[in-house]
Amino acid sequence: MPVDRTATELVRDVQSGRLAPSEVVRAYAERVDRFGERLGAFLWFDAEAALAEARRVEERLAAGESLPLAGLPVAIKDNISTRGIPTTCASKILEGYVPPFDATVVERLRRAGAVVFGKTNLDEFAMGGSNETSAFGPVRNPWDLERSPGGSSGGSAAAVAARLAPAALGSDTGGSIRMPAALCGIVGFKPTYGRCSRFGLVAFGSSLDQIGPMARTVEDAALVAEAITGHDPKDGTSVACGPVRADLSEGTLKGKRLAYSKELTGDALHPAVARTFEQALEVLRAEGAELAEVSLPSVRLAVSTYYILAPAEASSNLARFDGVRFGPRAEGPGHVETVARTRGRLFGHEVKTRIVIGTYVLSAGYYEAYYAKAQQARTLLRREFLEVLDRFDAIVSPTAPVTAFRLGEMSADPVALKMLDLCTIPANMGGFCAVSIPCGLAEGLPVGLQLLGAPMRDEALLGTAHAAERALPSIGAPPLN
Ligand code: GLN
Repeated sequence: MPVDRTATELVRDVQSGRLAPSEVVRAYAERVDRFGERLGAFLWFDAEAALAEARRVEERLAAGESLPLAGLPVAIKDNISTRGIPTTCASKILEGYVPPFDATVVERLRRAGAVVFGKTNLDEFAMGGSNETSAFGPVRNPWDLERSPGGSSGGSAAAVAARLAPAALGSDTGGSIRMPAALCGIVGFKPTYGRCSRFGLVAFGSSLDQIGPMARTVEDAALVAEAITGHDPKDGTSVACGPVRADLSEGTLKGKRLAYSKELTGDALHPAVARTFEQALEVLRAEGAELAEVSLPSVRLAVSTYYILAPAEASSNLARFDGVRFGPRAEGPGHVETVARTRGRLFGHEVKTRIVIGTYVLSAGYYEAYYAKAQQARTLLRREFLEVLDRFDAIVSPTAPVTAFRLGEMSADPVALKMLDLCTIPANMGGFCAVSIPCGLAEGLPVGLQLLGAPMRDEALLGTAHAAERALPSIGAPPLN
């Protein structure tokens, strides 16, 4: 069965002629047909379109083209622009919007022979951590349909975990690739800021956003990462450097220096997650990793600082959605009323809250007290982490302090939901690379282990994560039928 194979195996089988891209697409489309609706993972899916793309890949292969992602279906988070395919950011304000261009990552996927395999559900404009702020309904966790897949890339995470796609793209502003990857039991990789083009990603917090792969294994994530990363002249913050080419052949943790810190395990850590994390550390130690405790005091500022900076950037980025340029419009008696009505009616509550907070912290009189202070804290945090990363290969922590929570459980307490970002936010604040890999089950639900690496050390980080993955127990697939 094609759906039992990893992305790497699939591509190898397609390249060697053992499997046709259209067979792969058909097998996955059948899974989407069976489970897609129940999970709420996709906002747009067209099996015929995917099949047509697979056939074009077949022609390119027959013509002798060498395609590194030959025939690989990749689901795309719906805040990444796709030419001719709706891109809604799970918001009513973009309902029906069809971009006239592909994001650079999508263009690169297509060039590598991948098949665009549906657009996945997310928190509205990627703002949230539970997928419940989507204007088109929540995503369900394939491990337990009453639970959240995490967010904001919950649709991509659920799709990959439930074998509706072998790989997907997510975006990560404060943890949105890694947190849902952890809660759904898959691998999620956020590259170093600037290594993956943001051109065509609908901007949330431009200084924090990165696109990255979500897949079943580190090898699969590395395969997709290699295709989508690398310098892009269309993105002014893109680093002039080649793609992330991880060498996973070494496969050992011997001599790897890993730091862990009390500040990153925090008080909110669920006891079952704490136990699974400690067992994982034991496994890594037994495999030859050298573990040492470090102190990262500025972590206590991370969440509050992020929730000043991210809304500040969002309030500016979302100003373009005015009912004039994109999507639907709620007509008013004049221009100002039209803009106000459109934004008032078509943005959801979480998005509006953030626009108000962002506008407030940037306004004259409050800028110094909030925005400028938060930037100072960001610099402190970056320096503190860099100092540790000078001496260690990676900083390890749980990816999230909890396992998948029940849908609705967090909606009454938005602050508690935001506190779950404690371990993931520092990587965005500092521009570091970070990856979440499954490290076990706690009470039947997946737990993620995060490895955070120094800027531009993505290759080495993936190597370490690959070795760790081999040593850790495999959690298998969710019991879905
Ligand atoms: N949960 C965080 C937030 O709500 C992170 C979102 C993200 O990474 N896109 O902002």
